Amino acid sequence: MAFSSDTSRCGPEGTSPVLSIIVPMFNEADNVDELLNRLVSVVSEIDPQYEIILIDDGSRDATAMRIVEATEQNGQIKCLVLSRNFGKEAALNAGLSHASGQAVIQIDADLQHPPEIIRTFYAEWKNGAELVYGQRTSRDGEGAARSFMTRSFYRLFAAVSDVKLMKGLGDFLLMDRKVVEALLSLPERERFTKGLYAWVGFKRVAVPFEVAPRAQGQSAWSILRLYLFALGAITSFSTVPLKIWTYIGLCLALPSFAYGGFIFAKTAIFGVDVPGYASLMVAVCFFSGIQLLGLGIIGDYMGRVLQEVKQRPLYLISTKHGFEQTRSRNLE
Ligand code: UDP
Ligand code: MG
Repeated sequence: MAFSSDTSRCGPEGTSPVLSIIVPMFNEADNVDELLNRLVSVVSEIDPQYEIILIDDGSRDATAMRIVEATEQNGQIKCLVLSRNFGKEAALNAGLSHASGQAVIQIDADLQHPPEIIRTFYAEWKNGAELVYGQRTSRDGEGAARSFMTRSFYRLFAAVSDVKLMKGLGDFLLMDRKVVEALLSLPERERFTKGLYAWVGFKRVAVPFEVAPRAQGQSAWSILRLYLFALGAITSFSTVPLKIWTYIGLCLALPSFAYGGFIFAKTAIFGVDVPGYASLMVAVCFFSGIQLLGLGIIGDYMGRVLQEVKQRPLYLISTKHGFEQTRSRNLE
């Protein structure tokens, strides 16, 4: 990891800020200016010592250049440039490890999360909430197929996992330092953050808000990526897919034994019949199919275990701007 901390600033008088805002960015160059204008005007009014941490998650456009420029114009804006695209969850984790505020706010760069709501988040936090989250009142801009799949996923997740996800929770939220520390202390690499927020507990308050349409650019989530994300979410929060094979096996084995007994008795009493290759083939194919499916699921969990055992860092930083050289706490 190479750190090129050319500028080192941390709030005007070197004191740590009350509010840290972290923004993951992947190909968001066109949104940088408007986002920062709106964000700075809201946040500076709440806490003049604020810090904004922009994380460039391996963008292929001019995002990195734009955010480095922003750090040069405003000493309270800092940025991390990751060495490649690690995904939003890792980018957020990089932001969390570098945030020094008493409360940390996560917000998307595409202005789908109106920065003005931060005022309400802050007020709720001051009232004693430890995790204040933006609750989506609509799923704007999603096609019918995608929203059906999303709903089915959440229903399946609720059925197979003990963790109760918060309704309408996205990645727009405020976390007290206690929650941030709790999240950073979880060592897992495959991170389904919605599940983790629910798992850590703490005092939560929902703030409903209307999701705005994306300002510029395109959502980076393809259907395949969503599917893999959903599979990862379920296998990291539930062992039901592993255990279910015992029951499926039992349900299939019992009738098979009964049928076996029946054939045995029939042969013993009536002698050898012309063997039924068709039914034999059907049974062989059916059982081997079921077994391969079961093996696949076990393979998925094995892969996950391997992933965790490798203990690779969640992200690597290429350059940092606006930070003091000493602060960094990547998962090691
Ligand atoms: N993002 C990221 N890395 C990625 C994909 C997305 O940092 O690999 C950021 C993106 O720049 C945005 C936020 O995560 O700030 C949400 O992404 P997007 O708008 O694509 O997702 P959606 O709003 O469709 O959930
Ligand atoms: Mg978006």
